[in-house]
Amino acid sequence: MTVPSRSDPAPLFVASARGACPQCGSPSLFDGVVRFAPACRLCGLDYDQFNVGDGPAAFLTLIIGALMVALALALEFGVHPPVWVHILLWPILTTVAVVYSLRVAKGALLILEYRNRAREGRLADKGNMQP
Ligand SMILES: [Zn+2]
Repeated sequence: MTVPSRSDPAPLFVASARGACPQCGSPSLFDGVVRFAPACRLCGLDYDQFNVGDGPAAFLTLIIGALMVALALALEFGVHPPVWVHILLWPILTTVAVVYSLRVAKGALLILEYRNRAREGRLADKGNMQP
């Protein structure tokens, strides 16, 4: 099977927002809303070899949480809407913001691991070590 290659990869956040495979650029990175597919459907790149961990979720929780609290306070003190507006607005807006930004952040980390050839550390073979 011929593996398509990209000589000019898309900018990082454009590629991650599209869910583009880091090897061929096809939009096959995700199998669900935020779950990675096991492999690229076009070129077969194994996505299971990459591990982005939970780093994006922790950062996004803090950043989006702070942003939503600031927006809720601004709305309350600026417009003073009825409380049902807050009850309807903020859970939906927070959920959409977290899911979309988590998708972009996870995709960006996987693409960076691929582009930088980042792998887990390995011990050198003892036969090749210098005394
Ligand atoms: Zn691919």
